[in-house]
Amino acid sequence: MSQMEYRQLIACHECDLLFRKPSSVKGRRAACSRCGASLTALPGSGLSLDPICAVTLAALVTFCIAQCFPLIALRANGMTSEATLFGAVRSLWSDNMCVVAAMVFCSSILFPLIELLALSYLLVPLRMGNVPPRFNSTLRLIQVVRPWGMVEVFMLGALVTIVKMASMAEVIPGPGLFALAALTVLLAVVTSFDPSRLWAVRDGIRSPRMAGIRWSRASGHDGRFMKPLRARVAGSSAVITAQRAGLVGCHACGLVQTRIEQQTHHRCARCQHVLHERRPDGLTRTVSLLLAAALAYIPANLLPIMHASTLGRSEDDTILGGVAYFWTSGDWPLAVVVFIASVLVPMLKLVALTLLTVVARRGSDWRARERAGLYRVVERIGRWSMLDVFVVALTVTLVHFGSFAVITAGPAALAFGSVVILTMLASQQFDPRLIWDNAGQRIRPDDER
Ligand SMILES: [Zn+2]
Ligand SMILES: [Zn+2]
Repeated sequence: MSQMEYRQLIACHECDLLFRKPSSVKGRRAACSRCGASLTALPGSGLSLDPICAVTLAALVTFCIAQCFPLIALRANGMTSEATLFGAVRSLWSDNMCVVAAMVFCSSILFPLIELLALSYLLVPLRMGNVPPRFNSTLRLIQVVRPWGMVEVFMLGALVTIVKMASMAEVIPGPGLFALAALTVLLAVVTSFDPSRLWAVRDGIRSPRMAGIRWSRASGHDGRFMKPLRARVAGSSAVITAQRAGLVGCHACGLVQTRIEQQTHHRCARCQHVLHERRPDGLTRTVSLLLAAALAYIPANLLPIMHASTLGRSEDDTILGGVAYFWTSGDWPLAVVVFIASVLVPMLKLVALTLLTVVARRGSDWRARERAGLYRVVERIGRWSMLDVFVVALTVTLVHFGSFAVITAGPAALAFGSVVILTMLASQQFDPRLIWDNAGQRIRPDDER
């Protein structure tokens, strides 16, 4: 096969299995038949460019509205205080919680804004048939910031804050809150779009002749699951991974290309991103990040997350203390939400990632499909533990009534934010292809025909 013909191939980003690229999957969702990962970068999968472009621009406008107007207002003893998104960052900063303020700023303001601006910078010219300058680095930027934008978690944090405050004072939802709710929905549509699909669009503009080709044997798509490519191995036909075929799939743009053995920093022919067959030292890095997260998990639960001083009385709140308080005061749905997000999810992530690393290090093929599912769950739920940090940020901003009542953030907020970031980094460092390297050739029974 020539380098040109490799463009017909795709390698599953989670298990490295090779497929022949269909000409279009016509808006349906296609998934890998071995590990079940959605292959979102296929041509024609998900929404087309026009609706995504419109939704991105609408999200930008909604973002500005959500920034300008107050989210929540609180009225107590004739005094009123308001919280905006930026105000929450500012009050954490002035409480000497600079790191927590930076975490909240990046995850709820800066990264979502960068993603929306970068996406519209690419989409608008591409739709008009031009490739914008710095196409490659802008696309990478979207892929880097995307996992760290947490507007939907902030939205849940605002709702939890409202329920929590309602028992103490009059709570008035502001216009910013409705804009934030709309933004959450719009961002869910935007993040369902895989930006690496834009590579095919760019290639179509740069060399229209290539884009016109409909590959003759391109019917590898049957229902939801893709049929893997088969190769002749020892006389019988078997599915094959990119690694075994001497190929490597780029993790940034998806291009499958030949592997150069000698070169350590081999770069992708299309996007210049460093290629690794398997992420080097991935397991060691995952283990060290997990250890750091486990250490930070202790002070996160033992130290106070908020100090409250009401009319001269001072009180410290820990996460578990807060859960127990909601439970005994009858707010049990709130107690369950906070317990799941702040205690259960970080613990589950630590245990699940430890299990994945240990089994991967031993090179076992034990329950590969279940482990792949577990990895996907860990990737998806990790961000939700940021909930408590956002609730603290909003509470600190709202409860500022001079000598009457003041709440400030405690050291556990920092420890807790670190746990979330460290576990998210740990799961990013773990290479899911390691799950499948010794898993043999089993694929879904219905594809075995
Ligand atoms: Zn797969
Ligand atoms: Zn690439």
